[in-house]
Amino acid sequence: MQRFAVFGHPIAHSLSPRLHTLFAAQLGIELEYVATEAPPERFMEIAREFFAQGGRGANVTLPDKRLAFELADAHTQAAQRAGVANVLTRQTDGSLEAHNTDGAGLIRDLRERHRVQLEGCRVLLLGAGGAAQAVAWALLDAGVHELIVANRTLARARALADGLAQPERVCISEWHALERCAAFDLILNATSAGVLGTAMKLPLSLASHGTSAYDLAYGRAAQPFMAWARDAGAQRVFDGLGMLVETAADSFEHWHGVRPRTDEALRALRMA
Ligand code: NDP
Repeated sequence: MQRFAVFGHPIAHSLSPRLHTLFAAQLGIELEYVATEAPPERFMEIAREFFAQGGRGANVTLPDKRLAFELADAHTQAAQRAGVANVLTRQTDGSLEAHNTDGAGLIRDLRERHRVQLEGCRVLLLGAGGAAQAVAWALLDAGVHELIVANRTLARARALADGLAQPERVCISEWHALERCAAFDLILNATSAGVLGTAMKLPLSLASHGTSAYDLAYGRAAQPFMAWARDAGAQRVFDGLGMLVETAADSFEHWHGVRPRTDEALRALRMA
């Protein structure tokens, strides 16, 4: 039986084993998928051991995504652009490939599930970490007209924008200067403020009736940003659970060559 895993720290809360088991049952594929605790100082050793023992593929979550990128012998374009990896795959010659499904997963959730129009829109991206970097590329590929990156640490926003190398479409904003911005078509929260339980101050003027607001986090972690967006008047407010399901489906498809039905899996997670 093919063996898969998800590595992270902490990992007990991970929905990945459930998702991959659901997908496999849908498609009649037999596999073993386990959640494996991998604190960063032990990640390299644990992941190498898993693949040496015949592991076929692994998802990787916080805080190990950068290490997963470094461990791999080859990188897909999506991983290269993000600079971090959430999928590792053992190739037939035994080498490891790093991939990143965050950007594609977000775009699929926005476009196909929520019917958010991306072409030509003006987007505010909050955060400049690994997830922000992956989704920034995907948003530009999807045809957004203007992307403003705001991050608590401005230097990181600048590094992200420089890496995107499209100054005609991408600019950065200091956090406190956001109060001077007009309402956006789409606001994405790619900070970990909600997950960490820390406060994030945002002016209400950033959103209006026509704004779609999306938190990459989900569950309790997404509540503060979603509440802010509703207070600011945004009519369309989403959490990142759909993105999580789509990114998991992308890795499943990468490994098994067939795409599972994601709406079914998302419904099951929402009901749980
Ligand atoms: P990183 O640790 O790489 O980046 C965290 C970012 O959050 C940094 O830009 C950091 O700013 C910012 N930040 C943290 N606290 C605050 C605060 N109090 N106020 C303002 N900014 C803050 O994390 P990731 O990029 O990997 O993940 C970011 C979020 O996206 C997490 O919530 C994660 O759960 C979610 N995510 C969801 C996915 C999904 O499938 N739904 C997939 C991937 C991520 P600074 O640079 O100043 O430290």
